[in-house]
Amino acid sequence: MSRFDFHLLLDPPRYPTDRFAPLADRIKRLLATQADVVFVQAEAMLALEAVATSIARPGLVALNVVTSPYGTWFGTWLRRGGATVHQVSAAPGQPIDAADVSACLDGLPQVDIVAAVHAESSNGALNPLAELAALARSRGVLFVVDAVASVGGHPIDFDVHGIDIAVMGAQKALAGPAGVSAVAVSARAWTHIAAAPDYAPSSLSLAELKHGWIERGRLALPGTPAPLEFWALEAALDRVDAEGIEQVIARHQQAARASRAGLRALGIEPWIAHDAAASALVTSAPVPAGVDANVLIADAARLGVELMPGFGDIEGRIVRLNHTGMHAAFDTVLANVTAYGAALERQGVSVDIGAAARAVSDAYAGV
Ligand SMILES: *Cc1c(COP(=O)(O)O)cnc(C)c1O
Repeated sequence: MSRFDFHLLLDPPRYPTDRFAPLADRIKRLLATQADVVFVQAEAMLALEAVATSIARPGLVALNVVTSPYGTWFGTWLRRGGATVHQVSAAPGQPIDAADVSACLDGLPQVDIVAAVHAESSNGALNPLAELAALARSRGVLFVVDAVASVGGHPIDFDVHGIDIAVMGAQKALAGPAGVSAVAVSARAWTHIAAAPDYAPSSLSLAELKHGWIERGRLALPGTPAPLEFWALEAALDRVDAEGIEQVIARHQQAARASRAGLRALGIEPWIAHDAAASALVTSAPVPAGVDANVLIADAARLGVELMPGFGDIEGRIVRLNHTGMHAAFDTVLANVTAYGAALERQGVSVDIGAAARAVSDAYAGV
Protein backbone atom coordinates (compact mmCIF):
# COMPACT_ATOMS: atom_id res chain seq x y z
CA MET A 1 0.00 0.00 0.00
CA SER A 2 1.22 3.53 -0.70
CA ARG A 3 1.98 5.95 2.11
CA PHE A 4 -1.20 7.84 1.29
CA ASP A 5 -2.75 9.09 4.53
CA PHE A 6 -6.31 7.76 4.46
CA HIS A 7 -7.26 9.91 7.43
CA LEU A 8 -7.10 12.87 5.07
CA LEU A 9 -10.31 11.50 3.56
CA LEU A 10 -12.25 12.03 6.77
CA ASP A 11 -14.31 15.10 7.61
CA PRO A 12 -13.82 16.86 4.27
CA PRO A 13 -15.21 20.37 4.00
CA ARG A 14 -18.55 20.56 2.21
CA TYR A 15 -18.20 21.37 -1.48
CA PRO A 16 -19.62 24.91 -1.58
CA THR A 17 -22.84 25.30 -3.56
CA ASP A 18 -21.43 28.21 -5.53
CA ARG A 19 -18.58 26.11 -6.90
CA PHE A 20 -20.70 23.64 -8.90
CA ALA A 21 -21.54 26.06 -11.70
CA PRO A 22 -17.92 27.17 -12.29
CA LEU A 23 -16.94 23.50 -12.26
CA ALA A 24 -19.55 22.74 -14.93
CA ASP A 25 -18.30 25.73 -16.94
CA ARG A 26 -14.79 24.30 -16.92
CA ILE A 27 -16.14 21.05 -18.36
CA LYS A 28 -17.92 23.07 -21.03
CA ARG A 29 -14.57 24.54 -22.02
CA LEU A 30 -13.00 21.06 -22.22
CA LEU A 31 -15.78 19.96 -24.57
CA ALA A 32 -15.77 23.31 -26.42
CA THR A 33 -19.45 23.90 -25.89
CA GLN A 34 -22.00 26.46 -24.78
CA ALA A 35 -24.48 23.66 -24.13
CA ASP A 36 -25.70 22.82 -20.64
CA VAL A 37 -23.53 20.51 -18.56
CA VAL A 38 -25.11 18.51 -15.74
CA PHE A 39 -23.35 16.36 -13.17
CA VAL A 40 -24.26 12.75 -12.57
CA GLN A 41 -23.10 11.79 -9.11
CA ALA A 42 -21.82 8.37 -10.08
CA GLU A 43 -19.32 6.76 -12.36
CA ALA A 44 -19.70 7.25 -16.07
CA MET A 45 -21.53 3.95 -16.63
CA LEU A 46 -24.48 5.35 -14.72
CA ALA A 47 -24.34 8.60 -16.69
CA LEU A 48 -24.52 6.58 -19.92
CA GLU A 49 -27.47 4.60 -18.58
CA ALA A 50 -29.15 7.87 -17.58
CA VAL A 51 -28.71 9.22 -21.12
CA ALA A 52 -30.17 6.10 -22.73
CA THR A 53 -33.03 6.01 -20.23
CA SER A 54 -33.79 9.71 -20.69
CA ILE A 55 -33.91 9.62 -24.51
CA ALA A 56 -35.59 6.24 -25.09
CA ARG A 57 -39.30 5.92 -25.73
CA PRO A 58 -41.49 3.51 -27.71
CA GLY A 59 -41.33 4.40 -31.39
CA LEU A 60 -37.84 5.87 -31.18
CA VAL A 61 -35.43 4.48 -33.78
CA ALA A 62 -31.75 4.47 -32.92
CA LEU A 63 -28.69 3.57 -34.92
CA ASN A 64 -26.27 2.32 -32.32
CA VAL A 65 -22.60 1.96 -33.26
CA VAL A 66 -20.99 -0.93 -31.38
CA THR A 67 -17.22 -1.12 -31.06
CA SER A 68 -17.01 -2.54 -27.52
CA PRO A 69 -19.27 -3.79 -24.71
CA TYR A 70 -20.05 -0.14 -23.83
CA GLY A 71 -21.97 0.25 -27.09
CA THR A 72 -23.75 -3.06 -26.53
CA TRP A 73 -24.92 -1.92 -23.09
CA PHE A 74 -26.10 1.42 -24.45
CA GLY A 75 -28.25 -0.44 -26.99
CA THR A 76 -29.66 -2.64 -24.22
CA TRP A 77 -30.76 0.40 -22.23
CA LEU A 78 -32.34 2.04 -25.28
CA ARG A 79 -34.33 -1.14 -25.99
CA ARG A 80 -35.42 -1.36 -22.36
CA GLY A 81 -36.97 2.08 -22.85
CA GLY A 82 -38.96 0.82 -25.83
CA ALA A 83 -36.71 2.06 -28.65
CA THR A 84 -36.00 0.11 -31.81
CA VAL A 85 -32.24 -0.28 -32.07
CA HIS A 86 -30.32 -0.98 -35.26
CA GLN A 87 -26.82 -2.03 -34.41
CA VAL A 88 -23.83 -1.36 -36.67
CA SER A 89 -20.80 -3.27 -35.41
CA ALA A 90 -17.14 -3.14 -36.27
CA ALA A 91 -14.79 -6.10 -36.58
CA PRO A 92 -13.58 -7.13 -33.11
CA GLY A 93 -11.44 -4.40 -31.54
CA GLN A 94 -11.58 -2.19 -34.64
CA PRO A 95 -13.19 1.20 -35.20
CA ILE A 96 -16.39 1.54 -37.20
CA ASP A 97 -16.29 2.38 -40.88
CA ALA A 98 -18.43 5.49 -41.39
CA ALA A 99 -19.53 4.06 -44.74
CA ASP A 100 -21.27 1.18 -42.88
CA VAL A 101 -23.14 3.70 -40.75
CA SER A 102 -24.08 5.68 -43.83
CA ALA A 103 -25.37 2.55 -45.59
CA CYS A 104 -27.48 1.59 -42.56
CA LEU A 105 -28.94 5.10 -42.39
CA ASP A 106 -29.77 4.93 -46.10
CA GLY A 107 -31.69 1.71 -45.58
CA LEU A 108 -33.88 3.01 -42.75
CA PRO A 109 -37.02 5.04 -43.42
CA GLN A 110 -36.82 6.70 -40.01
CA VAL A 111 -33.95 7.29 -37.59
CA ASP A 112 -34.01 9.58 -34.56
CA ILE A 113 -30.65 9.02 -32.95
CA VAL A 114 -27.11 7.95 -33.82
CA ALA A 115 -25.04 6.85 -30.82
CA ALA A 116 -21.34 5.96 -30.73
CA VAL A 117 -18.31 5.76 -28.49
CA HIS A 118 -15.61 8.24 -29.51
CA ALA A 119 -12.40 6.55 -28.33
CA GLU A 120 -12.32 3.09 -26.81
CA SER A 121 -10.16 2.40 -23.78
CA SER A 122 -11.32 -1.22 -23.93
CA ASN A 123 -9.55 -2.02 -27.18
CA GLY A 124 -7.80 1.10 -28.47
CA ALA A 125 -10.14 1.85 -31.37
CA LEU A 126 -10.85 5.44 -32.39
CA ASN A 127 -14.17 6.00 -34.12
CA PRO A 128 -14.38 8.72 -36.80
CA LEU A 129 -16.18 11.36 -34.74
CA ALA A 130 -16.31 14.10 -37.38
CA GLU A 131 -17.65 11.72 -40.05
CA LEU A 132 -20.27 10.24 -37.74
CA ALA A 133 -21.31 13.72 -36.63
CA ALA A 134 -21.64 14.83 -40.25
CA LEU A 135 -23.79 11.78 -41.04
CA ALA A 136 -26.07 12.47 -38.09
CA ARG A 137 -26.31 16.14 -39.07
CA SER A 138 -27.09 15.35 -42.70
CA ARG A 139 -30.07 13.21 -41.55
CA GLY A 140 -31.15 15.75 -38.94
CA VAL A 141 -30.91 13.18 -36.12
CA LEU A 142 -29.54 13.49 -32.60
CA PHE A 143 -25.91 12.50 -32.15
CA VAL A 144 -25.00 10.95 -28.81
CA VAL A 145 -21.34 10.38 -27.94
CA ASP A 146 -19.66 8.40 -25.19
CA ALA A 147 -16.63 10.63 -24.66
CA VAL A 148 -15.72 9.13 -21.29
CA ALA A 149 -12.34 7.92 -22.43
CA SER A 150 -11.63 10.42 -25.20
CA VAL A 151 -11.90 13.68 -23.26
CA GLY A 152 -8.29 14.72 -22.69
CA GLY A 153 -6.95 12.20 -25.19
CA HIS A 154 -8.49 13.53 -28.38
CA PRO A 155 -9.89 16.91 -29.39
CA ILE A 156 -13.67 17.10 -28.98
CA ASP A 157 -15.50 20.06 -30.42
CA PHE A 158 -19.06 19.53 -29.22
CA ASP A 159 -20.54 22.66 -30.84
CA VAL A 160 -18.56 22.57 -34.09
CA HIS A 161 -19.35 18.89 -34.66
CA GLY A 162 -22.95 19.46 -33.71
CA ILE A 163 -22.97 16.81 -30.99
CA ASP A 164 -26.21 16.67 -29.01
CA ILE A 165 -25.23 14.65 -25.96
CA ALA A 166 -21.75 13.79 -24.71
CA VAL A 167 -20.93 11.85 -21.57
CA MET A 168 -17.57 12.52 -19.97
CA GLY A 169 -15.70 11.13 -17.00
CA ALA A 170 -12.56 12.36 -15.29
CA GLN A 171 -11.10 8.95 -14.48
CA LYS A 172 -9.43 8.23 -17.81
CA ALA A 173 -7.29 10.78 -19.67
CA LEU A 174 -7.98 13.54 -17.15
CA ALA A 175 -6.59 11.35 -14.34
CA GLY A 176 -9.35 12.43 -11.95
CA PRO A 177 -11.97 10.76 -9.75
CA ALA A 178 -14.28 8.02 -11.03
CA GLY A 179 -17.24 8.82 -8.80
CA VAL A 180 -18.72 11.83 -10.59
CA SER A 181 -19.36 12.31 -14.28
CA ALA A 182 -20.92 14.93 -16.48
CA VAL A 183 -23.24 15.11 -19.47
CA ALA A 184 -23.35 17.94 -22.01
CA VAL A 185 -26.83 18.36 -23.50
CA SER A 186 -27.74 20.52 -26.52
CA ALA A 187 -30.98 22.50 -26.70
CA ARG A 188 -32.25 20.04 -29.34
CA ALA A 189 -31.53 17.15 -27.02
CA TRP A 190 -33.40 18.80 -24.14
CA THR A 191 -36.43 19.17 -26.41
CA HIS A 192 -36.18 15.50 -27.26
CA ILE A 193 -35.79 14.52 -23.61
CA ALA A 194 -38.84 16.59 -22.64
CA ALA A 195 -40.92 14.53 -25.10
CA ALA A 196 -39.77 11.19 -23.65
CA PRO A 197 -41.38 9.61 -20.58
CA ASP A 198 -39.75 10.89 -17.40
CA TYR A 199 -39.13 8.49 -14.53
CA ALA A 200 -38.37 11.20 -11.98
CA PRO A 201 -37.66 10.84 -9.14
CA SER A 202 -34.82 8.74 -10.51
CA SER A 203 -31.02 8.87 -10.60
CA LEU A 204 -31.43 8.11 -14.32
CA SER A 205 -33.49 11.19 -15.15
CA LEU A 206 -31.66 13.95 -17.00
CA ALA A 207 -34.90 15.93 -17.02
CA GLU A 208 -34.83 15.92 -13.24
CA LEU A 209 -31.28 17.29 -13.27
CA LYS A 210 -32.43 20.07 -15.58
CA HIS A 211 -35.37 20.98 -13.34
CA GLY A 212 -33.50 20.52 -10.09
CA TRP A 213 -30.29 22.27 -10.99
CA ILE A 214 -30.17 24.27 -14.22
CA GLU A 215 -33.64 25.77 -13.89
CA ARG A 216 -32.90 26.71 -10.29
CA GLY A 217 -29.91 28.85 -11.19
CA ARG A 218 -27.33 26.06 -10.82
CA LEU A 219 -26.98 26.37 -7.06
CA ALA A 220 -27.22 23.36 -4.77
CA LEU A 221 -27.13 20.03 -6.56
CA PRO A 222 -30.05 17.76 -5.71
CA GLY A 223 -29.28 15.19 -3.03
CA THR A 224 -26.13 15.06 -0.97
CA PRO A 225 -23.21 15.65 -3.32
CA ALA A 226 -20.15 13.63 -2.31
CA PRO A 227 -17.62 16.30 -1.32
CA LEU A 228 -14.56 14.12 -1.88
CA GLU A 229 -15.52 13.48 -5.48
CA PHE A 230 -16.16 17.13 -6.28
CA TRP A 231 -12.98 18.34 -4.58
CA ALA A 232 -11.08 15.68 -6.48
CA LEU A 233 -12.70 16.69 -9.77
CA GLU A 234 -11.75 20.31 -9.14
CA ALA A 235 -8.17 19.28 -8.32
CA ALA A 236 -8.00 17.17 -11.49
CA LEU A 237 -9.25 20.08 -13.60
CA ASP A 238 -6.73 22.39 -11.90
CA ARG A 239 -3.97 20.00 -12.89
CA VAL A 240 -5.32 19.71 -16.44
CA ASP A 241 -5.55 23.49 -16.77
CA ALA A 242 -2.05 23.96 -15.35
CA GLU A 243 -0.72 21.67 -18.07
CA GLY A 244 -3.17 22.95 -20.68
CA ILE A 245 -5.78 20.70 -22.30
CA GLU A 246 -4.00 20.90 -25.67
CA GLN A 247 -0.82 19.66 -24.00
CA VAL A 248 -2.69 16.87 -22.18
CA ILE A 249 -4.06 15.72 -25.54
CA ALA A 250 -0.63 16.09 -27.20
CA ARG A 251 0.93 14.00 -24.41
CA HIS A 252 -1.55 11.18 -25.07
CA GLN A 253 -0.99 11.37 -28.83
CA GLN A 254 2.75 11.23 -28.31
CA ALA A 255 2.38 8.18 -26.04
CA ALA A 256 0.33 6.44 -28.75
CA ARG A 257 2.84 7.33 -31.47
CA ALA A 258 5.76 6.11 -29.36
CA SER A 259 3.94 2.89 -28.35
CA ARG A 260 3.12 2.11 -31.98
CA ALA A 261 6.66 2.88 -33.13
CA GLY A 262 7.96 0.66 -30.33
CA LEU A 263 5.72 -2.27 -31.32
CA ARG A 264 6.74 -2.00 -34.96
CA ALA A 265 10.42 -1.90 -34.01
CA LEU A 266 9.85 -5.07 -31.96
CA GLY A 267 8.65 -6.61 -35.19
CA ILE A 268 4.97 -6.64 -34.21
CA GLU A 269 2.20 -4.82 -36.09
CA PRO A 270 -0.22 -2.99 -33.74
CA TRP A 271 -3.70 -4.59 -33.57
CA ILE A 272 -5.19 -1.50 -35.22
CA ALA A 273 -3.16 -1.07 -38.37
CA HIS A 274 -3.86 2.57 -39.21
CA ASP A 275 -2.41 5.17 -36.89
CA ALA A 276 -5.34 7.52 -37.46
CA ALA A 277 -7.81 4.80 -36.38
CA ALA A 278 -6.09 4.13 -33.05
CA SER A 279 -7.04 5.81 -29.81
CA ALA A 280 -4.43 7.71 -27.82
CA LEU A 281 -5.45 6.05 -24.54
CA VAL A 282 -4.27 2.49 -24.95
CA THR A 283 -2.38 0.68 -27.68
CA SER A 284 -3.57 -2.82 -28.43
CA ALA A 285 -0.92 -5.37 -29.24
CA PRO A 286 -1.72 -8.77 -30.69
CA VAL A 287 -1.32 -12.02 -28.80
CA PRO A 288 0.44 -14.21 -31.39
CA ALA A 289 -1.03 -17.60 -32.28
CA GLY A 290 0.00 -20.24 -29.78
CA VAL A 291 0.63 -17.71 -27.00
CA ASP A 292 -1.66 -17.36 -23.98
CA ALA A 293 -2.58 -13.75 -23.17
CA ASN A 294 -2.68 -14.52 -19.44
CA VAL A 295 0.86 -15.83 -19.58
CA LEU A 296 2.03 -12.63 -21.31
CA ILE A 297 0.28 -10.56 -18.67
CA ALA A 298 1.79 -12.61 -15.84
CA ASP A 299 5.29 -12.38 -17.34
CA ALA A 300 5.01 -8.61 -17.71
CA ALA A 301 3.71 -8.36 -14.13
CA ARG A 302 6.91 -10.04 -12.96
CA LEU A 303 8.71 -7.01 -14.40
CA GLY A 304 6.34 -4.70 -12.54
CA VAL A 305 4.39 -3.80 -15.69
CA GLU A 306 0.64 -4.10 -15.90
CA LEU A 307 -0.46 -5.18 -19.36
CA MET A 308 -4.24 -5.25 -19.51
CA PRO A 309 -6.31 -7.98 -21.15
CA GLY A 310 -8.63 -7.16 -24.02
CA PHE A 311 -12.14 -6.27 -22.87
CA GLY A 312 -15.11 -7.88 -24.59
CA ASP A 313 -15.00 -10.01 -27.70
CA ILE A 314 -11.23 -9.62 -28.13
CA GLU A 315 -10.27 -10.88 -24.71
CA GLY A 316 -7.37 -13.29 -25.22
CA ARG A 317 -6.54 -11.90 -28.66
CA ILE A 318 -4.91 -8.65 -27.58
CA VAL A 319 -3.18 -7.11 -24.62
CA ARG A 320 -3.52 -3.39 -23.98
CA LEU A 321 -0.57 -1.13 -23.34
CA ASN A 322 -2.07 1.53 -21.08
CA HIS A 323 -1.01 5.15 -21.59
CA THR A 324 -4.05 6.89 -20.18
CA GLY A 325 -3.87 9.85 -17.82
CA MET A 326 -0.62 10.03 -15.88
CA HIS A 327 0.49 6.87 -17.71
CA ALA A 328 0.89 8.93 -20.89
CA ALA A 329 4.58 9.39 -20.18
CA PHE A 330 7.91 8.16 -21.52
CA ASP A 331 8.75 5.85 -18.62
CA THR A 332 5.45 4.00 -18.74
CA VAL A 333 5.44 3.69 -22.54
CA LEU A 334 9.01 2.40 -22.53
CA ALA A 335 8.25 -0.10 -19.75
CA ASN A 336 5.04 -1.30 -21.49
CA VAL A 337 6.73 -1.92 -24.83
CA THR A 338 9.85 -3.59 -23.46
CA ALA A 339 7.90 -5.75 -20.99
CA TYR A 340 5.52 -6.88 -23.76
CA GLY A 341 8.60 -7.68 -25.88
CA ALA A 342 10.29 -9.55 -23.05
CA ALA A 343 7.12 -11.53 -22.35
CA LEU A 344 6.84 -12.47 -26.04
CA GLU A 345 10.49 -13.52 -26.09
CA ARG A 346 9.88 -15.87 -23.14
CA GLN A 347 7.16 -17.52 -25.26
CA GLY A 348 9.64 -18.08 -28.07
CA VAL A 349 8.53 -15.17 -30.27
CA SER A 350 11.48 -13.43 -31.89
CA VAL A 351 11.41 -9.67 -31.20
CA ASP A 352 13.97 -6.87 -31.13
CA ILE A 353 13.68 -5.26 -27.69
CA GLY A 354 16.70 -3.01 -28.23
CA ALA A 355 15.25 -1.57 -31.42
CA ALA A 356 11.91 -1.07 -29.65
CA ALA A 357 13.53 0.87 -26.80
CA ARG A 358 15.31 3.05 -29.34
CA ALA A 359 12.11 3.64 -31.30
CA VAL A 360 10.28 4.75 -28.14
CA SER A 361 13.05 7.11 -27.09
CA ASP A 362 13.37 8.46 -30.65
CA ALA A 363 9.64 9.12 -30.73
CA TYR A 364 9.94 11.08 -27.47
CA ALA A 365 13.05 12.92 -28.61
CA GLY A 366 11.21 13.89 -31.79
CA VAL A 367 13.81 12.18 -33.99
C1 LIG B 1 -14.23 3.74 -19.14
C2 LIG B 1 -15.32 3.90 -20.09
C3 LIG B 1 -16.66 3.97 -19.70
C4 LIG B 1 -17.20 3.84 -18.32
O1 LIG B 1 -16.33 3.81 -17.38
P1 LIG B 1 -16.53 3.48 -15.87
O2 LIG B 1 -15.20 3.88 -15.35
O3 LIG B 1 -16.77 2.01 -15.78
O4 LIG B 1 -17.63 4.29 -15.39
C5 LIG B 1 -17.61 4.16 -20.67
N1 LIG B 1 -17.29 4.25 -21.96
C6 LIG B 1 -16.02 4.19 -22.37
C7 LIG B 1 -15.73 4.32 -23.83
C8 LIG B 1 -15.01 4.00 -21.46
O5 LIG B 1 -13.75 3.92 -21.88
